[in-house]
Amino acid sequence: MGRITLDQITKSFGEAQVIPPLDLTIEDGEFVVFVGPSGCGKSTLLRLIAGLEDVTSGEIRIDGKPATDLPPAKRGLAMVFQSYALYPHMSVRKNIAFPLKMAKLSQEEIKRKVENAAQVLNLSPYIDKRPGQLSGGQRQRVAIGRAIVREPAAFLFDEPLSNLDAALRVNMRAEISELHQQLATTMIYVTHDQVEAMTMADKIVVLQAGVIEQVGSPLDLYNHPRNLFVAGFIGSPK
Ligand code: ADP
Ligand code: MG
Repeated sequence: MGRITLDQITKSFGEAQVIPPLDLTIEDGEFVVFVGPSGCGKSTLLRLIAGLEDVTSGEIRIDGKPATDLPPAKRGLAMVFQSYALYPHMSVRKNIAFPLKMAKLSQEEIKRKVENAAQVLNLSPYIDKRPGQLSGGQRQRVAIGRAIVREPAAFLFDEPLSNLDAALRVNMRAEISELHQQLATTMIYVTHDQVEAMTMADKIVVLQAGVIEQVGSPLDLYNHPRNLFVAGFIGSPK
């Protein structure tokens, strides 16, 4: 499960309202991309969903249950950070196992889940290596592995590929899309990169100054941009 509903949520930092009242429904299993220029509120919106920031007003529901007041750990979502946030002194196995140790699962269960995740992510040959011995793309996959083992209702990605070089970015894009097909879990993916949005999304949410300009499939937005901002941003010929 992984249906997320935002009902009239707003966010202000002091006097500044960065998210005016916003409604959005993300369906279970969808790959949703939040796209828009720098500073438009993509990260803030993702952090509100994750519970890393509190909404100023409005309601968040996850699989129909009120989540507005739940701390991040109780929302059943997994945030994959841009910086890999791996423990350099621990092996891949231990890095991936870390959240399961915290959750006090049995040794056997931890071993099984970690080895499954490593296999799904093609990390099995590297399972006893440390992050420093891995490439950028492999480290990114370890970070995703650490999220997978928790079997979250949704994965939240905030510009996860922006530290990688262009060739690797294209690779990782394909890998994340493949992972989405394999797991069939809701994914919310933040980027300022139109190409990433157009190639990866089931549904694109175009943001400008905290306002949703349009929601639709890549083809919808390309063929029927609602306004010049969307047309210009998506690069459609309107
Ligand atoms: P994006 O991820 O699209 O680049 P952000 O969500 O990071 O945009 O930021 C949206 C707006 O909110 C920006 O104007 C930013 O300066 C402001 N903002 C974000 N976080 C904070 C914060 N903790 N305190 C004050 N202002 C913030
Ligand atoms: Mg951001």
